[in-house]
Amino acid sequence: MDKVIGIDLGTTNSCVGIVENGNPVVIPNRGGYKTTPSMVAVTEAGKRLVGHIAKRQAITNAENTVYAAKRLIGRKWTSPQVKNAVATSSYKVVEGPHNDVRIVLRDKEFSVPEVSAMILQEMKVIAEDYLGEPVSKAVITVPAYFNDNQRQATKDAGEIAGLEVIRIINEPTSAALSYGYGRNVEKVVAVYDFGGGTFDISILEIAGNGVFKVIATAGDTFLGGEDVDARVIDWLVQGFKDEHDIDLRQDRMALQRLKDAAEKAKCELSAVSEAEVNLPFIITSSRNEALHLQRTLTRVVLEELAEDLIARTVDICRQTLEDARLEKNEVEEVLLVGGMTRMPKIQQAVAKFFEREPSKGVHPDEVVALGAAIQGAALVDDKQDMILLDVTPHALGIMTFGNYFEELIPANTTVPTQRQKIFTTSRDNQTAVKILVMQGDSTKAEDNELLGEFILTGLRRAAKGTVEVEVTFEINADGIVSVRAKDLETGLEQSIQVTATSGLTRDEIKAMIENSKDELVDRRTSEEFESARQEAEKTITQIEELFPQVQQVVASSDFGRDAIEKAKGIVAKARQAIEKRDAAAVKEQLEGLMRTHRMFKGVVAKT
Ligand code: AMP
Repeated sequence: MDKVIGIDLGTTNSCVGIVENGNPVVIPNRGGYKTTPSMVAVTEAGKRLVGHIAKRQAITNAENTVYAAKRLIGRKWTSPQVKNAVATSSYKVVEGPHNDVRIVLRDKEFSVPEVSAMILQEMKVIAEDYLGEPVSKAVITVPAYFNDNQRQATKDAGEIAGLEVIRIINEPTSAALSYGYGRNVEKVVAVYDFGGGTFDISILEIAGNGVFKVIATAGDTFLGGEDVDARVIDWLVQGFKDEHDIDLRQDRMALQRLKDAAEKAKCELSAVSEAEVNLPFIITSSRNEALHLQRTLTRVVLEELAEDLIARTVDICRQTLEDARLEKNEVEEVLLVGGMTRMPKIQQAVAKFFEREPSKGVHPDEVVALGAAIQGAALVDDKQDMILLDVTPHALGIMTFGNYFEELIPANTTVPTQRQKIFTTSRDNQTAVKILVMQGDSTKAEDNELLGEFILTGLRRAAKGTVEVEVTFEINADGIVSVRAKDLETGLEQSIQVTATSGLTRDEIKAMIENSKDELVDRRTSEEFESARQEAEKTITQIEELFPQVQQVVASSDFGRDAIEKAKGIVAKARQAIEKRDAAAVKEQLEGLMRTHRMFKGVVAKT
């Protein structure tokens, strides 16, 4: 039987799982970690890095390191979310040929699905290394609140990564699946999922016979841990500005260091009440002095900074409960999913709203991938009697005269589903109708997402109102939409699979698949080089971070200047070896790098 992996493609971290002998397990990566940072970078030598290696070099290569690509997937260039990302990212985001988004890495443009594919490919390789055999099928999770364009773009990413995506499922649903699997529970559960980039809430009914039915879902695809980090960054930047009148945002490297420090402090504050933010040599003043950033962030201040963001999640919970037509006391269990739910204030807010302590029984980082693996196993194994009934998070309809949105399938309708409606022509002798397919929750068409458009031509010439066109909307189990239109008298029919308007063309996807295959061959043949290079780059970063301090201490002596020159020489040689992709030469330089690093640490410790 085919093995299917479950991938939680997260904004900040990704995780891969599989069902082995009936047991869902998370597969650790080569470093032994169960999650892998969703980060991609391209080095000076043009080499792609994914995961921890990419994260480790993010500070020194900020412009060519992508994080949180999931925030951009399936979005249009003109959307406010993309504008925000353009303004705040340390990497360059530009307009693509289809009103889509491209990310520039070392002068080369990559589509967002391509960047996500690099992460998915990494997860595929992690699974293959563990299983010792190739894997070709996957279930990938997406935020429940993703629209059709975002789902389709995620599917494209899977395809580019060489995976057959047999199902896209919603993250909270996946978490509930993992929670209820093999337990024979009968409960109404709420899944509160606050991750790095998105917030989702789903309310589900788990029936004892393996039926998981989503009652209502809602969320915000631009509300996550990244926003909390941004608040902390603002606070640090403002404090520094007040003190030195310098805007740290001008400097990409400083910004990347701030981002790292902000996230680190935020995570620390889940366990302690004060965290130290200490960034030596963050920038140089106009008088050429090296300036440091040192501040203490308390849990109380962090909670104030994040207060309105947490309140937004609670408002969405309230709305979803209303949509589900349930009272709080009818929710029998609350599951916390996503890294942000480790924040005590968030746990308190959820407990307060639902009037019950959330369950501690699921692992917030792993539960989504496990659920995806369970769903994958169930899809290829007919013996497993598990039924997943999810809902469409947004209403689906068409644009009608006067820019109105006419709803055909309301939000929270169980999928797969199909609805029909008959329209008539609005002019005499009208031979064509244009159908604009939209998704969203506003009665005004312009506020909703345009999924696609098509024209039904060749209608019979007749008086207005006499030609009847039957329009059928279908949403499949992946949440992806197709539309058919039929002239009821002639039987003339046309249909479209509503592919993402902001997505990629078939030809582009094909080219990207080829490209990513080449990359994989390259990756597999150079593992020895990779591990030496990782170690060398890490040490170079550490040495370079210490350079300014060491320089200050030793520059007054000939001996000291000599030592610095030597160190620079070793770093340059190691870089050359990395550039040439020569594993033996990198290993040779590694010893010198380590020695230099030890010496530098010794010098700094003495000051
Ligand atoms: P996820 O997308 O589920 O991997 O969640 C990642 C988000 O959770 C990031 O914004 C992390 O900074 C955040 N996170 C991880 N651990 C903690 C923690 N201990 N306290 C607060 N936030 C955390």
